[in-house]
Amino acid sequence: MGVSSTEKPVALVTGGSRGIGRACALGLAEDGYDIVINYVGNKQAANEVAAGVAARHRRALVVQGDVGSEADMLQLFKAVDGFGRLAVLVNNAGVVDVAARVDEMSLERLIRMMQINVIGSFLCAREAVKRMSTRHGGKGGAIINIGSVAAILGAPAQYVDYAAAKGAVDSMTIGLGREVAAEGIRVNAVRPGLIETDIHASGGIPDRVQKLAGFVPMQRGGTAEEVADSVRWLASPKASYVVGAIITVSGGR
Ligand code: NAP
Repeated sequence: MGVSSTEKPVALVTGGSRGIGRACALGLAEDGYDIVINYVGNKQAANEVAAGVAARHRRALVVQGDVGSEADMLQLFKAVDGFGRLAVLVNNAGVVDVAARVDEMSLERLIRMMQINVIGSFLCAREAVKRMSTRHGGKGGAIINIGSVAAILGAPAQYVDYAAAKGAVDSMTIGLGREVAAEGIRVNAVRPGLIETDIHASGGIPDRVQKLAGFVPMQRGGTAEEVADSVRWLASPKASYVVGAIITVSGGR
């Protein structure tokens, strides 16, 4: 894995302050990238990840911004430009909402779900392609989207809106992957199952992993690091012929 010691390209991880994003940021630092850590509200957590990157002898830049806001994302990518050459984007920032049936979902909820999970991923991918594509004078790169097994399970009576948003992320992975494959950019995705992070508490079920672990063929939840390992592989030259792939990391779920 890793990159040469003379060149230190940049990896941007959206939602890099906690959970899967944090594990990706620290893992990619180990692989030799300087890291831009985007977060939306938890500055302390982002700064702790930056300290972890520094401990791995790489530079870190922490940038606040809501991925669903175009203005914020333009600011974020401006900051990236001042930091170094963007080689990897991990489109990780994502949210769930509390369990609800579709016939209970408000317009506000639906808009938030799509704004952050879908439009946020598109805005970041758009800005990354502008910088990475050989068509725009770039040197290529890798974009890794974080999907979810919800996209194929549908998440009935829980969050069909989230599942549908992640379905859109899968489609974007395939379509954009083919769109820019000849321009030096590999677009792929990792599709996590039940992973031990704070996201379940934000959906109102902090013990969701423990509750559902018995339904996972491997009989346990996964760790953020187990997801990050696939992200790191997709970012690396080891995945040089992999485009539009969606790697399921779910213990068989
Ligand atoms: P998490 O522990 O809740 O962390 C979410 C991260 O995203 C935090 O760093 C948070 O920043 C950031 N974030 C949230 N909204 C944002 C926004 N609007 N703009 C920028 N950053 C934002 O979540 P996680 O479990 O690590 O999930 C990461 C990704 O994996 C998501 O796309 C999620 O859908 C996907 N996923 C997770 C699981 C699972 O079981 N955990 C399963 C399948 C897919 P702050 O720290 O500033 O709040």
